Amino acid sequence: MKDKFDREITYLRVSVTDRCNLRCKYCMPPEGIEKKDHQDLLSLEQIYNIIKVSTKIGIKKIRFTGGEPLVRLGLPKLIKDVSQLEDIKEITLTTNGILLSKYIKELKEAGLNRVNISLDTLKPDRYKDITRGGDFNKVMEGIKAAQEYDMKPIKINAVLMKGFNDDEIEDFAKLTLEQDIIVRFIELMPFGERYSWTKDKYLSNSRVLESVKNLEEIDYDKGSPSRYYKIKGAKGKIGLINPISRHFCNTCNRIRLTADGNIKPCLHSDLEIDMKKYLGSEEEIYKGLLEAVNRKPFQHHINEEGYDPIKRDMNRIGG
Ligand code: SAM
Ligand code: SF4
Repeated sequence: MKDKFDREITYLRVSVTDRCNLRCKYCMPPEGIEKKDHQDLLSLEQIYNIIKVSTKIGIKKIRFTGGEPLVRLGLPKLIKDVSQLEDIKEITLTTNGILLSKYIKELKEAGLNRVNISLDTLKPDRYKDITRGGDFNKVMEGIKAAQEYDMKPIKINAVLMKGFNDDEIEDFAKLTLEQDIIVRFIELMPFGERYSWTKDKYLSNSRVLESVKNLEEIDYDKGSPSRYYKIKGAKGKIGLINPISRHFCNTCNRIRLTADGNIKPCLHSDLEIDMKKYLGSEEEIYKGLLEAVNRKPFQHHINEEGYDPIKRDMNRIGG
């Protein structure tokens, strides 16, 4: 269905947990997050019911995210159930990749179509630093496993950070020369308690266009917020996601379900629809989803003076 601004809403991002096996500096506090009681989180059955009803408002694509989605037990079974919904055409996953080699076979068999792997540096020591302890080699194993299981196209998402990985842009770009993968650079966004850290390290993605030689823009996946490029002769592609320097609100087609049962119609707004009030029946769930679509704001206001960051940190939204 369309929202008030004539945008067709077809994409639901589902966070299955706000817990994570890493502590990325731009996403999580160093001590991790307070453990929630089980009753504060949606059960997998409740998540499934919301996804099922979401097809009635026109949702066709589901992305599972987190926290780290692979730390939620039972995810493959949920994926399997969702893959049997006729109207769902694509199921994808965003993961830090640490547990990917362990679960890839099960995920593929369950019906997962694609995977995005987050990786902000190609240097093991830097990886350990930004994730506060993560093992780079595990992510490499995860990427390899995803390739072996033919989860194409594999996307590697790198958040660009001033003074952290701006000297690695060309190295990331070079990965696309010989491999059919997509490297996407994402602009760092300000959230919750990480507001000042993220603001200090923000760098516009125009830096990528300045650093990588022989880039040409290509016509690829027009429905995505990413603009795509190719280095002449390369097998893979480079994507730029510019939520700050060139926002794409006018074509936004998504809503988000948080692990604690709220729908966020816009990533950068505190507006949330508490779906826990609506779980009694399919009609009720439909009502909640309808409210979320009807109240979807037109655009974010990050670039405006006096912008007040939203309260949730990214690990409690899912990206
Ligand atoms: N744990 C999984 C992962 O890291 O891929 C899924 C959840 S994570 C919140 C989803 C994506 O959001 C990751 O690619 C991460 O780099 C990105 N992210 C987190 N905080 C961000 C921020 N402040 N600005 C831009 N991207 C951010
Ligand atoms: Fe965890 Fe992903 Fe956030 Fe890193 S970005 S702390 S891996 S949820």
